Amino acid sequence: MGRVFSDLKTAEYGASGHPEAPFRVLRTFERLKAAGHAPEKPAMTAGASDVSLLHDEEHLNSIRLGTFEDADTPMYARIADIALISLAGSLSAADSALAGEPAFSLMRPPGHHAGKDKVAGFCYLNNAALAVARLQKAKPGLKIAIVDFDVHHGDGTESLVLGRENTTYLSLHQYPLYPGTGLDTRGNCWNIPLEAGTSGDGWLSAFEPAFGLLLGTKPDVLAVSAGFDAYKGDPIAGLKLDRSTFKRIGALLAQTKLPRFAALEGGYSEDLPLLVESFLDGFF
Ligand SMILES: [Zn+2]
Repeated sequence: MGRVFSDLKTAEYGASGHPEAPFRVLRTFERLKAAGHAPEKPAMTAGASDVSLLHDEEHLNSIRLGTFEDADTPMYARIADIALISLAGSLSAADSALAGEPAFSLMRPPGHHAGKDKVAGFCYLNNAALAVARLQKAKPGLKIAIVDFDVHHGDGTESLVLGRENTTYLSLHQYPLYPGTGLDTRGNCWNIPLEAGTSGDGWLSAFEPAFGLLLGTKPDVLAVSAGFDAYKGDPIAGLKLDRSTFKRIGALLAQTKLPRFAALEGGYSEDLPLLVESFLDGFF
């Protein structure tokens, strides 16, 4: 079981040579469909009121108008609307989780580098953090643990949830690497920096005890920033996880039996469709 939310409109932007490319959604969509996880359109829409749960009031407008600057994160035609579709996938996945069915949002752009008033690192809106905020708005007191296994530190997520009640953020990431943060734990934001070359076994042996502690905070829901760029074949980073590691991560999350949802973050290798499929084999 498990639901996948996707919309091929999120494959309708890109720039030549940019690793955050349309194939990521297009090919993964086909692969999941063939594997029996036929993606469905998001059940919910996302709008300005969702964005302003955590971002500045002006942030969405600045994306619409292109009045932002980040070398990695270009202005594309209709990118604000596409980012809202990506966010709708995360909101729908979160809703599904709470209704009892684990879910995955197969969308782009990713979100975990987007901060209060900034786009960064291929990210415009912080999908996972906004989905968490929306669940907590609907159900005050809901305790949510966010697990981020993207190879990069989710600096945007950390900035948005630092000090937030009922929320704990756990990130494992390569360090040093973009964005250069995440060396130390800060309050409710737990960071585990890993050296370049860390294998899947090394990754899991760092993750398992930290995840045990995270479960000790008694979360009601697990939110997952699912990045697949810690894969050994990824062109932009240096960790060495293999395909089976992602299945294992998914299984460890599923073992908790907690309501859970995940949103696609990074992952730039040609093998992304296989990696996502393996993760969902464990996660669902
Ligand atoms: Zn990444």
